Parts: sequence; structure tokens; C-alpha cells
Amino acid sequence: MNKKKIENQYKAKIDLFNNYNKFYYDNSEPKVSDKVYDDLKAEILLLEYNYNFLKSKNSPSKVVGYKPSKNFKKSLHRAPMLSLANAFSEEDLLNFEKRILNFLSEKDDYKISYSAEPKIDGISASITYVDGKLTKGLSRGDGKEGEDITANLKTIKDIPKKILKKNFPREIDIRGEVFIQNNDFLTLQEKFANPRNAASGSLRQKNPEDTSKIPLKFIAYTFGYEKGLNIENQFEYLKKLNEWGFKTNPLNKLITGVKNLLINYKEIEKKRSELGFDIDGIVYKVNNFKLQKRLGNVANAPRWAIAHKFSSNKAISVIKSIEIQIGRTGALTPVAKIKPINIGGVLVSNATLHNEDEINRKDIRIGDTVTVERAGDVIPHILSADINKRKKNSVKFVFPNKCPSCGSKTEKEFNKVTQKIDAVRRCSSEGYYCDQISIEKLKHFVSKDAFNIDGLGKKIIEGFWKLKLIKFPQDIFKLDYKKIKKLEGWGSLSVENLKYSINQKKNISLERFIFSLGIRHIGLENAKLLSKHFISFLKFQKLSKTKNFDDLLNIDGIGETQVSSMKSFFANEINVKVLDELGKILSIQNVAVTKLNGLLKNKSFLVTGKLIGISRAEVKSLIEENSGSTVSTVSNKLNYLITGEKPTKRKVEIAKELKIKIINQDDFLKMLNKTS
Ligand code: NAD
Repeated sequence: MNKKKIENQYKAKIDLFNNYNKFYYDNSEPKVSDKVYDDLKAEILLLEYNYNFLKSKNSPSKVVGYKPSKNFKKSLHRAPMLSLANAFSEEDLLNFEKRILNFLSEKDDYKISYSAEPKIDGISASITYVDGKLTKGLSRGDGKEGEDITANLKTIKDIPKKILKKNFPREIDIRGEVFIQNNDFLTLQEKFANPRNAASGSLRQKNPEDTSKIPLKFIAYTFGYEKGLNIENQFEYLKKLNEWGFKTNPLNKLITGVKNLLINYKEIEKKRSELGFDIDGIVYKVNNFKLQKRLGNVANAPRWAIAHKFSSNKAISVIKSIEIQIGRTGALTPVAKIKPINIGGVLVSNATLHNEDEINRKDIRIGDTVTVERAGDVIPHILSADINKRKKNSVKFVFPNKCPSCGSKTEKEFNKVTQKIDAVRRCSSEGYYCDQISIEKLKHFVSKDAFNIDGLGKKIIEGFWKLKLIKFPQDIFKLDYKKIKKLEGWGSLSVENLKYSINQKKNISLERFIFSLGIRHIGLENAKLLSKHFISFLKFQKLSKTKNFDDLLNIDGIGETQVSSMKSFFANEINVKVLDELGKILSIQNVAVTKLNGLLKNKSFLVTGKLIGISRAEVKSLIEENSGSTVSTVSNKLNYLITGEKPTKRKVEIAKELKIKIINQDDFLKMLNKTS
């Protein structure tokens, strides 16, 4: 690759990195997962390592956070607020210690003590005290300059406003982390991706009164500028913080040797979900201040500290309970409710256990300490249980043989294709007998590929169901809007919008309609095949009387599984009733039949200008129904240019040059033996 190309590639990555930082630090709303962000950072650093001509002031090796927001007054830090280097493995830690020993020119047997402090995932703040009085509070900003958030910080109970202790320095910037407990975060979950962003968003609000409503906490761990702090090491400083009235982390420990750091890391990793607040790793700081001073900083982080991060896709937690979710097709899915844990920037409190067989195979039980995995956008799942941590009174999880929602028998089917019994257990009820299945069916009915009703999402369906506003799909078209208008969160405008979008969707194609019914094994593709076979809703509906199911086997793509599913659907009276009712309310479009040897066979068309009384979409479908085709430009491939009002001159000129037939709307309709 040539130099220019590499530089361009590098610049594009730096721009993207900068953009991610803006969203994360300034808007408190990450654009991508931490994994994607960290991978990009590593790619940039690798490029810089391989090509030493690549340089940028925005390189991840130089920047800290993001410049202060315009919403606040800016203020310079008297001592920079830096970021931390990261370690992910034992090897990274050994290298960290080796670098320190090399820098200090010490031998391998030189013992270094570290202050090991759980790394709370919040946002850091620097609070200045002069003669024991809180005078100013800043956010980290870009490390050099922060946002003046004094009034907001003052609303936090954990931050003393006045310190009267005699040994408190005359002047000092106390630094620590502002964070939110997991329980408090649960109420803010809809607004923020994780507790860190919730803390950042809540703390940096324009109006301190809004900040005061959020139960933010503060844990202190370091200092910036100081006058009169006569302390020799970090651990002693942490103790002093307590004496002065600050909260410190009870899990802070003084540790010597990488081996012992790893033991502590594993212990805390196991306890993580029980802490009640989010930590994303452990910070190791050389304890001795003199050594810290000698080691100094690189561009954006101290040489004497490192953050040992937890995995971004796995974490350990405890199963509080196992709930059984029932899907639209009756499948029973066990879901573990776990103690909330941050995995790669997302607070996870539910993890799937897939099915009955999976639970049995892995012998997962309530109360187990488990490893949870969250990879990419896939639903988090339980990987395994730590049997050694299991309590003596733990009992095997028994999968329900009755549907937890409707009490019907649950069963596992025999799969004729695989010749095996299904791993999935299902509720055996049909139609709308089971409440949970009904709710899921309704959600499917309004979903994107089905009726696609704007403003009628899953949550609203659940709410309307609870209020008994809907039970069957047809109820959606007979909603009591007067009642809805009185509900919390609804007003005249939102009700009008809902009414409009529901009415608009009364017109639907047969294939979407069949898909929306949520018949098992009838996905979009099969719905399309069935709609082409039946052509009209009436013929489809008649199946309940003709029971001509065997005919369906002649459809290429439809097999026994689908046919047996159609049979059980039509055998159920409620399903048949739902079809009748929907048929009365909706306008279900017949399938346009494409004629293989139609009047426009081998002829291509293009429209230019406005047609009267007929839309372009209708012209296109008329052409296609009659075996013709449409093209998008005037070329030798075009046979007819249909011109309406104000046609594009250029198109007409080229058509003339190429001797393409130019016709008007009437000529076109005549070709189909129609008149306008
Ligand atoms: P960092 O979070 O890796 O480490 C520095 C911070 O650790 C300090 O500023 C402080 O706030 C905190 N900390 C907690 N406890 C501490 C203790 N006891 N002692 C010292 N510091 C302590 O650094 P960063 O630069 O703020 O953030 C980088 C991380 O944030 C990345 O690893 C990335 O995953 C995430 N990030 C994600 C995105 C995204 O778009 N998803 C964007 C930017 C950053």
C-alpha cells in the first residue's frame, strides 16, 4: 500500500475514533459497544506502530476523554486528569511490572507494592477544597480542562461540603468517581445504555436540580493539586480520605507481586455481581509516592498505574431465578434472572438458557454462580455453572410440564426431518387460548414485516392487553380511543396519530396478511408462496371449509411440516373466527397475476413526466402483470418511452436520437386494450 493510502486510512480511523468519543463523553450516549471502540483504538495504535510517519493530535495514545461541553463554563485543571493504560492478561501485567523495573533500573527481584482498587465505572470528578471548604468541582473533560459542575457535585450526599479535620490539607483537589448503583440505574435504563452513561448524563445536566433527583454516589481515590498533604503512599492516602469523611472502596487492597494481583482479580471478578455497583476492572497503582514521581506519565496516562479490565464479553454472576417465557408458537424458553452485571458496556440482568435440554445438559440451577456470555448483538446466554460454589441445599431445576401461562400440557414434538425429539418444549394449546401466546401473536401481528403499524410497539400491545383493550387481532381496528386518550402518556395528538396509522394499514397485501397471522412454520417466504397459490383472501379463508390441505403439498417449497401446521390452525374455531372478523374489517388485496405471455411480453418501458389518474407504481405493476419490464434510463434497451405532462426534455431527445417509440398515456393503455 502506498504512503498516501495508509495516511488516508489512518485519518478515517482517527475521525471515527473522535466521533465515538464525542458521543460517549459529551453526549453520554455511546454510538458503538466498548468492544468495537477498543478494537478501533487497537487498530489505530497498530498502524502507528507499523508506520512511524503516522501522527495525529487526536491519537488514542495522546487524548484523554473529550473537550468540555459548551453547556458549562470551562476551567483548567491545576494537575492533569489522565486516563489509564489497560491490561487484559497476566502477560500484560508482567510487562507492566517489567517496564517499571526497567525504568527504575531495578532487578527482577525488586518488590513493588500496589494499591489494588476496584475500577468503578462512572465518571471522574476533581473537587477543590480551600481551608476545608468546597470551592470548585470539575469534570475530567480532556484532562487539561474540565467542565465546571460545582453546583451539580454539591447535590451529591457523599461529597462533604466542609471538612473541619485538623490534618486536612490547606488546599487540595480530591478526585474520585461519581457513579450510580445498579438498582438506581434500573429506573434510568430506558434513557442510558449503562450505569456509566447514566452517571455522566445525570451529573452533567444544565440544571443542578435535575441532578439532585438522581441518587448519585461518590468514591474518592486520588488527588490533583495539593498544599500541605504530608503522606508517603497511596494506601495511607486512602485511609486519610476515610478520616476526612469521604467514602472509599472497601475492596481496596495493598498487594505485592503479579501472582497475588491475579488472585485478587479472580476473587473480585466472582464477587462483582454482588457489589451493587458497576466495576469494569481493577486499577493497580504503585503504592509509593516517591516511585510514582520518578515514574511520571506518558502522554495521557501515568506510568505507575494500569487498569486490569474484565472481559468485554463474559462475566460471572448469580442466578436469582429462572423464568419461563412463552413465545408466539408456544415454545417455552427458560430465562435466567441474574444479578445485574456489566458485560462490555451493557448491564445484563437476563440471560437465556435456550431450552429444557440445555438446562439439563449443563445442570443449571437457581442460586448457581454462572459465567454469562454476551457476544455481539446476540442475546446474552449462560455458558456454565461453577459447581464448586453450589450450596448443599441446591436442587435440580424441574422444567414445567404444564404451561405456566394457561396450564395446558407442555410437550416435545417428534421432528420428522431430523427423526429426533425436539429440544424445545411447547405449550400444546392452539389459537388464542393461552394469554401469553396471544400477546406474542398480537406483537407479531403489528410487527414490521406484518401490519407494520407505527406507534403500536410491543410495550403498547402489552399495556393495551393488560387494560383489556385488545385480545384478538381484530380488536386493534376497533380500539376505544376515548379510553386511550385518558391513559397516562397519551394525548389527543398521539391518539390521532395512532388512529391514523391503524386505519392506513387496513389495506394490506394477501402475503403480509397471511404472515401476520403467525401460523407456525409460515414465515415471510412461505406466506408469499401461499398467497400466490390462493390469489384471494376468500379462497384462503375457505380452506376452513374445503379442508383441501393436500393441495398445498403441490406448492413448490411447502412441505408436510407447513401443511400440518396449517391444518391445526384451521382446525381451531377461534382462528377461523379471527379470520372472519378480519375479513370484514380489512381490505386484503388479491395477488396480481403475472401473465407469462402477456400483451407486453419482451417490451420495456420508461415513464417521464406526470401521468393523469394513474400512479407510476400502478403503471409499473400493469407492465409487470402483462409480462413487460421497466428500465430506469433511456438506452438501446428501451422500447417505449411513455411521456406525461412536462416530460424531461433530455430523455425525449435521446429517445428520438435512438429512434425509440415515444407514446403517451392513452397509447400505453390502448396496448393493454384499456382506456383512461
Ligand atoms: P478508563 O475508564 O479506561 O480509565 C480511567 C478512568 O478510570 C479514570 O478517569 C477514572 O474515572 C476511572 N477510575 C475508576 N476507579 C479508579 C481508581 N480507583 N483510580 C483511578 N481511576 C479510577 O479511561 P477512559 O479513557 O475514561 O475510558 C476508556 C474506556 O471507556 C475504554 O476502554 C472504552 O471501553 C470506553 N469508551 C467507550 C466508548 C464507546 O463508544 N463505547 C467511547 C469512549 C470510551
